[in-house]
Amino acid sequence: MQELTHYIGGAHVKGTSGRFADVFNPATGEVQAKVPLANSDEMDKAVAIAVAAQPAWAAVNPQRRARVMMKFVDLLNRDMDKLAEALSREHGKTLPDAAGDVQRGLEVAEYCIGAPQMLKGEFTDGAGPGIDIYSMKQALGVTAGITPFNFPAMIPMWMFAPAIACGNAFILKPSERDPSVPLMLAELFEEAGLPKGILQVVNGDKDSVDAILDHPDIMSIGFVGSTPIAEYIYGRGCSNGKRVQCFGGAKNHMIIMPDADMDQAADALVGAGYGAAGERCMAISVAVAVGNDTADRLIEKLVPRIEALKVGPYTSGNDVDYGPVVTAAAKANIERLVQTGIDQGAKLVVDGRNFNLQGYENGFFVGPHLFDNVTTDMDIYTQEIFGPVLTTVRAETYEEALAMATDHEYGNGTAIFTRDGDAARDFASRVQVGMVGINVPIPVPLAYHTFGGWKKSAFGDLNQHGPDAFKFYTKTKTVTARWPSGIKEGGEFSIPVME
Ligand code: NAD
Repeated sequence: MQELTHYIGGAHVKGTSGRFADVFNPATGEVQAKVPLANSDEMDKAVAIAVAAQPAWAAVNPQRRARVMMKFVDLLNRDMDKLAEALSREHGKTLPDAAGDVQRGLEVAEYCIGAPQMLKGEFTDGAGPGIDIYSMKQALGVTAGITPFNFPAMIPMWMFAPAIACGNAFILKPSERDPSVPLMLAELFEEAGLPKGILQVVNGDKDSVDAILDHPDIMSIGFVGSTPIAEYIYGRGCSNGKRVQCFGGAKNHMIIMPDADMDQAADALVGAGYGAAGERCMAISVAVAVGNDTADRLIEKLVPRIEALKVGPYTSGNDVDYGPVVTAAAKANIERLVQTGIDQGAKLVVDGRNFNLQGYENGFFVGPHLFDNVTTDMDIYTQEIFGPVLTTVRAETYEEALAMATDHEYGNGTAIFTRDGDAARDFASRVQVGMVGINVPIPVPLAYHTFGGWKKSAFGDLNQHGPDAFKFYTKTKTVTARWPSGIKEGGEFSIPVME
């Protein structure tokens, strides 16, 4: 059995806590490795190394730091296939999807090559007699990130690329479900020239998260995962005086208007609902059809597409649309929620229960499900299922559909499919959700824009990547300078105002 490590001080380090978690191959259900779960002593060691290494990294000029980032991007491209394979083996997603996971992280690293531009401060020449005011964006020090299983390459890179570009050290506590790719990323960054101790990976569970939350030398925490844990980390991290941003769960609605191109909408829904087995925070899990006729036409288009979906292991290459879910517990939770849907009166139009893949009977595969006649009081509507289960709600009017997306406790992403520009514009303007697609089912913004939900999908003021990341990972210092020619004789006793 392979024993994974931490990556501390530029070396693979064995766990010393004596606690481990199983890492499964979700396609076969076999335990393929064990990952150490760090205790607070191990975390303390990593933080001490980061504290010692960070000032020298912050002193490297931004352009040289950007060159290391550039080289890191090259190495990610070089090792893309290797990274994707390692990712699929632990996560279960298809190889093209795994390569996309690496690619969307790589793009944020690429964006961070522009750090010298992003870190330029502001300057006011002649703010008063002989007085200039200028601001600097300085690194925070040691920063940390806690990431989910569903994007083990992309989300860590969304955090550590800007943090490191800004001159911080970063401690990553990745998901214990698929820890191999984060370890590979840390190695690659050092191969690119990053000094040891600037990016460390400490594997673990709640114990190591609590060690991060309470450590006085960790200045900021980024978290992505489920909402209950996001709320916990936000509360405890903030009360310990840290800068914290947490991104939580989702229930993304796609509104289908009567004038939408129904083939286009159905294709979009199948990709966005079932891709990655529905384990994306931007997956569409609720289709809201406006009008009964729209719903009937949509369901008619959806059913054959869903029934044709190919579910299988990543080793089947491009012949597979989606793979297994991550663990047996995730599968059991999906099955439980499907049963509540049936019990609470929704109509199961495509029944994915009892899905069986020959040769992979112990894998965590879940067949595709489609529900119709879902109502907003049902558990399958209110709760995040995080599986290949699409629910259809019938709305009588556009206003009713808009209110559903707006009133749901989650507000990560949403989409509208229509040919009516007026309706699309109104929707984008009024819906209470952080990211909106117009005829785009998964509106994940590109690296140079920011990513973030609203309501219970995000806690904190700033989004991920884009310009917000450079704000989150720096603190501003403002200097007011007066040189002798501008100084009047005698002391000043009232508050200075500019003349
Ligand atoms: P999770 O909340 O179970 O775990 C996320 C991280 O928190 C992991 O590193 C885990 O080790 C840690 N953790 C788990 N339990 C903890 C506890 N009790 N105390 C402290 N730390 C704990 O989430 P997951 O299952 O890995 O990921 C799926 C969830 O993430 C879904 O809810 C999904 O919507 C969400 N997600 C959100 C976004 C977003 O940007 N909003 C992106 C991706 C995933």
